[in-house]
Amino acid sequence: MIKRINHIGVAVKSLGLSSDLFAKIFEQPHPHTENVPQQNATIAFFPVGESSIELIESATQDSSISKFIDKRGEGIHHICLEVDDIKKEIERLKKHGFQFVNDHPDEGGDGYLVAFLHPKSTNGVLIELAEKMK
Ligand code: ZN
Repeated sequence: MIKRINHIGVAVKSLGLSSDLFAKIFEQPHPHTENVPQQNATIAFFPVGESSIELIESATQDSSISKFIDKRGEGIHHICLEVDDIKKEIERLKKHGFQFVNDHPDEGGDGYLVAFLHPKSTNGVLIELAEKMK
């Protein structure tokens, strides 16, 4: 079951400069940053009501975030849907013909297991599924 929009991911060149910007928009202090080695990225979350904005900076030149920024510039990268059972949702969506970037969930940021639906099968929208780890 899909529970809510957990966050919207934004690809940025500089987490420091972007955190300055979003701290002003949301009138919040800078959030703590977290390294996500599985995605070669450093991330920071700004909570906004029930959801949050995730800023994502690439940690390496050849990561998917680097490639995204090279191709499309900074901006909205993905929408994250929180689910109660990620393996069940992956199976359900595969039955409908959706393709996954990774159909074995990886450890994402903030204590979640995550899997990404390939944008080729979702009208160009990269969708992240996330289940809170117990
Ligand atoms: Zn995300």
